[in-house]
Amino acid sequence: MLYKVLSKEKLGELVTNLLSNYEFYGPKKIDKVTHDFVLIENFSDIDLSYKKTTIPPSKKLLFPSYENLINYKLNKDNVEVLPNLESKKRILFGVAPWDINGMNFLDKIFSIDYLDNNYLMKRKNLIVIGFDVEPSDNNFAAAVNAEYTNKGFDLYITDLKDRYFIRVGSATGNFIINNFTTAVDAKLKDFEDYNRFLDVYRKKFKVKINLDKFYDSFEAVYSNNELWDKLAKNCFSCGSCNLVCPTCFCFNVKDELMLNLKEGIKKREWDSCMISDYGLVAGGHNFRPTNSNRLKQRYRCKLKTFAEKFESISCVGCGRCVDACLAKINIYEDVNTIKKEVGV
Ligand code: SF4
Ligand code: SF4
Repeated sequence: MLYKVLSKEKLGELVTNLLSNYEFYGPKKIDKVTHDFVLIENFSDIDLSYKKTTIPPSKKLLFPSYENLINYKLNKDNVEVLPNLESKKRILFGVAPWDINGMNFLDKIFSIDYLDNNYLMKRKNLIVIGFDVEPSDNNFAAAVNAEYTNKGFDLYITDLKDRYFIRVGSATGNFIINNFTTAVDAKLKDFEDYNRFLDVYRKKFKVKINLDKFYDSFEAVYSNNELWDKLAKNCFSCGSCNLVCPTCFCFNVKDELMLNLKEGIKKREWDSCMISDYGLVAGGHNFRPTNSNRLKQRYRCKLKTFAEKFESISCVGCGRCVDACLAKINIYEDVNTIKKEVGV
């Protein structure tokens, strides 16, 4: 990795250069309380003081809520398949470390067991520029080691108040630095200030969660139906917690056949393991008929399954599911409740 320093007043110049060369998405204040990642036209539209967005930015661009996967045509002798692959270079600017970590998780999901070309093509063309975003009240990224990342970005910018410390994570990042900025190599004092920044930054995450040996605790309460009924008692099975989560990847694939019955599209749309018909199969059997079955499964998926598969849990502590839940079901409080129940 290369380390650079950019003077404060030069960030606008960098962004303006990038705006004229790439499709550029960044955080913008949409109304009094909401920020969202949108197409940016001017540097002044960007607001890096955001703390959260409802939908994770990388999920919005790489794995949108609705997507046309392929078009197909039924010919006399064969079926013609026309993949719908996006090849536009895009920049995603100002992404929080936990959202980069969420995207790193999706990268694995869509490339390890099966190559999902619709996702991977978009990912290949996405230039990611990270930024240390201030944590919101329910953010517990530091408790799950997601407040920092050393992969998944092309450039990562840290605000050292009087200058920017930039980590260059790829050849594309290096190209941008060399062609669009006047950044210089970082010196010892810059590294020292960067380390000091990280110490202060980590202290800003106030939510504590004890995931130590949670793997065993989860097994210990797995069959405790009374506990799961209590935790899920107010759940409306609305699925919002899944939809806002940077690591949730379940989807449905549907066919839409044209009226001529000769052409069609295969599309995918987000699905949610928390809604009641997610486990419904032909014949009317439902594998997860109650909200407590479903909450248990969601926590298993987030906090245990991928700890086994990828050696890291699939929760990056962004807190979005807590913010989105009208029933006030709270993943970090529930983890602490489970630990208490097990007595560790
Ligand atoms: S936990 Fe909350 S957000 Fe998730 S399905 Fe239940 S009510 Fe909806
Ligand atoms: S489970 Fe909740 S806190 Fe964890 S990554 Fe998903 S939305 Fe964020």
